[in-house]
Amino acid sequence: MDDAMTALPLVFDAPRRTKPPRHLADLTRDEARAAVTELGQPAFRADQLARHFYAGVTDPAQMTDVPAAVREDLAAALLPGLLTPVRHQSADGGRTRKTLWRLHDGALVESVLMRYPERATVCISSQAGCGMACPFCATGQSGLTRNLSAAEIIGQAVAAAAAMANGEIPGGPGRLSNVVFMGMGEPLANYARVRKTLDALLTPAPHGLGLAQRSVTVSTVGLVPAIRKLTEEGLNVTLAVSLHAPDDELRDTLVPINTRWNVGEVLEAADAYARRTGRRYSIEYALIRDVNDQPFRADLLGRLLAKRLAHVNLIPLNPTPGSQWDASPLPAQREFVARLRAAGVPTTVRDTRGSDIDGACGQLAAADQVDGVPSVAVPVPAVEEGVALGAESDQG
Ligand code: SAH
Repeated sequence: MDDAMTALPLVFDAPRRTKPPRHLADLTRDEARAAVTELGQPAFRADQLARHFYAGVTDPAQMTDVPAAVREDLAAALLPGLLTPVRHQSADGGRTRKTLWRLHDGALVESVLMRYPERATVCISSQAGCGMACPFCATGQSGLTRNLSAAEIIGQAVAAAAAMANGEIPGGPGRLSNVVFMGMGEPLANYARVRKTLDALLTPAPHGLGLAQRSVTVSTVGLVPAIRKLTEEGLNVTLAVSLHAPDDELRDTLVPINTRWNVGEVLEAADAYARRTGRRYSIEYALIRDVNDQPFRADLLGRLLAKRLAHVNLIPLNPTPGSQWDASPLPAQREFVARLRAAGVPTTVRDTRGSDIDGACGQLAAADQVDGVPSVAVPVPAVEEGVALGAESDQG
């Protein structure tokens, strides 16, 4: 392994930057009602605003149940535009669409909407950048800029739901059915905001997006205390653990957080989640040629997972710029799958939707590519036309 690629420090505490303006989606329903009252309006207007927000209405002129005289002011006070689309990139005949968003302070994040015949999944970002420093991941190599607010995370899902509802994606108007936290960032390192986001995703319309618990996937490098905390929440969302190696020696290098919480501890925490929810968790494993794709590692992984309530989702590595690593060749992938299945472990191989627009797992590196400087606590300069997008994840 290249030393230069493992030298990044782990970063848990996001640099503090100016907070995004107050937004309804950051507030509880009671707080929103209080905020509206403070603005001299009846509390029920908070519910009206929420209904418009979750329906994807952004133009105050369309909020016709709110008196025209106060629409603009209420929207400005509680529904400020937090996500400005910089550009969309499409692939798969328009059924995969990646959006680059600029945040109020110039930070950049991406989300990817993927439409399949029977579902539509949006992959959202929970942080600008990421502090987990996984050497094969473009976002991990760019460092952590900051945590996103709940409203900034929720807004990505709301925009995707609106794009589906408005028929912006080929196939006619449809419904957003799935959300995966597999964009930029480590969701469990931004716990409180991600927790709020889960509420917004799961709360029935019109006060949320009304998604099914099993259709929401939280993907983590394995922050054990946060997995335990999630286990106590009483939620049943799908948990995905980015394992990438069955042995601590290799995982220490591929997922550096392993030096703090090792394979055994992470799986134990995931097992406890599975026991509580009764639901299988997902093991993410990027197949990297000659690094973690050997038959003996497949067998090791098979033995590790055989008696657990887990399934394996193999991701052929999406090579990132500057990396010497490559995806496993097909025969190696097939062998890996066969050995896991022989061990009794349910195994699937993820499709790589959007890899041609750098929109597949691990390719998101928007901030990095725009200011050209890894890591950050400095606002990113205004985006120039023609800057290539970073990218992110697929999957459903
Ligand atoms: N921080 C979260 C979300 C990250 S992105 C996590 O680590 O789980 C979602 C998945 O994409 C993770 O499993 C991540 O390890 C994987 N990934 C990152 N870079 C990749 C790459 N270059 N090729 C394939 N998968 C990648």
